[in-house]
Amino acid sequence: MLKKSFFGLVIPQFEYERLPAILPEAEKVAASKTITLFHEKNSDQNPAASIQIGDKVTTGQKLSLFADDPAYVIASVTGTVSAISPHAGDFGKTYTAITIAIAETEAFDDQFEAHAPSPTLENAIEYLAAAPGNPPLQTLADSEKPIKTILITGVDGDLLTGTRQYITATRLNDIKDGIRILKNISGIDRIILVTGRDALHGFGHIGADVKSIDATYPAALPPMIMKNVLEEVLPAGQTCEEMGVCFMSAEAVASIGRAYTGGKLPVHKVLTLITKDGSRHMIETTIGTPIKDILNAYGVEINEEDRIVFGGPMTGSAVYSLDQPVLPDTDAILVLDRAQAANSSDYPCINCGDCVRTCPAQIAVNMLVRFLEAGQYEEAADNYDLYSCIDCGLCSYVCVSKIPIFQYIRLAKYELDRAKTAEATDV
Ligand code: SF4
Ligand code: SF4
Repeated sequence: MLKKSFFGLVIPQFEYERLPAILPEAEKVAASKTITLFHEKNSDQNPAASIQIGDKVTTGQKLSLFADDPAYVIASVTGTVSAISPHAGDFGKTYTAITIAIAETEAFDDQFEAHAPSPTLENAIEYLAAAPGNPPLQTLADSEKPIKTILITGVDGDLLTGTRQYITATRLNDIKDGIRILKNISGIDRIILVTGRDALHGFGHIGADVKSIDATYPAALPPMIMKNVLEEVLPAGQTCEEMGVCFMSAEAVASIGRAYTGGKLPVHKVLTLITKDGSRHMIETTIGTPIKDILNAYGVEINEEDRIVFGGPMTGSAVYSLDQPVLPDTDAILVLDRAQAANSSDYPCINCGDCVRTCPAQIAVNMLVRFLEAGQYEEAADNYDLYSCIDCGLCSYVCVSKIPIFQYIRLAKYELDRAKTAEATDV
């Protein structure tokens, strides 16, 4: 919700979505014919790949592209592999898209079941890394960046989205189980569940501290939670993991709890669908369901230049195909009519200063943007605080010249990371 200022001089304030106290169950939306999974490796349709078109798979089966490759996806349906193709993601990242035609009868893979009675970090990494919420389990095993605190986010990072709040309110028993299991397998005792102020009560003993944050955006972004809950300021260029803190969504923790107590890998994702008229639906669908199936279920028509965003309005990313599948970390799908979608422009900066006033990290964004537009990323990082940016997107929202500042920032960080990795590999 936007709190508009009467006088135009005060920076607009946004409040996070608050769900009603009594929640209806998430509406179930089924995939119609196929689901598609994105595997992080590129198979290039290699004949040596261990998955081939025509292979039969069962729900919960681990699919690795090559023998002995630790990277995998989990088949979220039973069926037959009908296509394997390269897929280009954001910033030139490539994936292998594995499409499965859904069979009429569902059968479950039982490999994980044998591990369920004895959870370990190793078997969690081996089976649960692609579970709903994408639990960052590998982070807990990184001896170079030892984790001391697990922060469970029961609040949604972006506006209009209620997925994490919904999971926290409706799957508390799974979360409690997940917390108990996480403590056992990681040896980490300090676990904190972060919730909104109005939802602070009624948790009872869940095996974790419960802390609240305020409802004003961007209070739920990790650097702000570090500051306001842990009282630790994230130094520029450092990650939360380097500070010993691992963030995990409430859904990721609930997935861990549900998998080990039920003996089956969860394959359904909860997400918030926000349609063109602003109505919101909490839905549950199979991971890999194409967005066209979800939009069809709600009668949402997509016209030329309408925009579909994965994530919320401030930090989400546009997707360009109705075949784009729901991913394990898709918390929201936002559909904007072309009349509502803010288009970027090539107008120059008029130095109004709105971005500077709104920036929670107090960056001189008006200066930073000049270097980003010129592709001078190192200069932007060394002299204009690129790495102090907490990725909130507020500067883009307020920019009167509609400069895509946040997109420039993401591109700059990505390019600098890529250069750093290339340098490290060359050494
Ligand atoms: S996205 Fe923009 S407003 Fe937000 S912290 Fe970064 S520079 Fe500041
Ligand atoms: S808000 Fe846009 S136009 Fe105004 S100073 Fe910032 S970049 Fe320039």
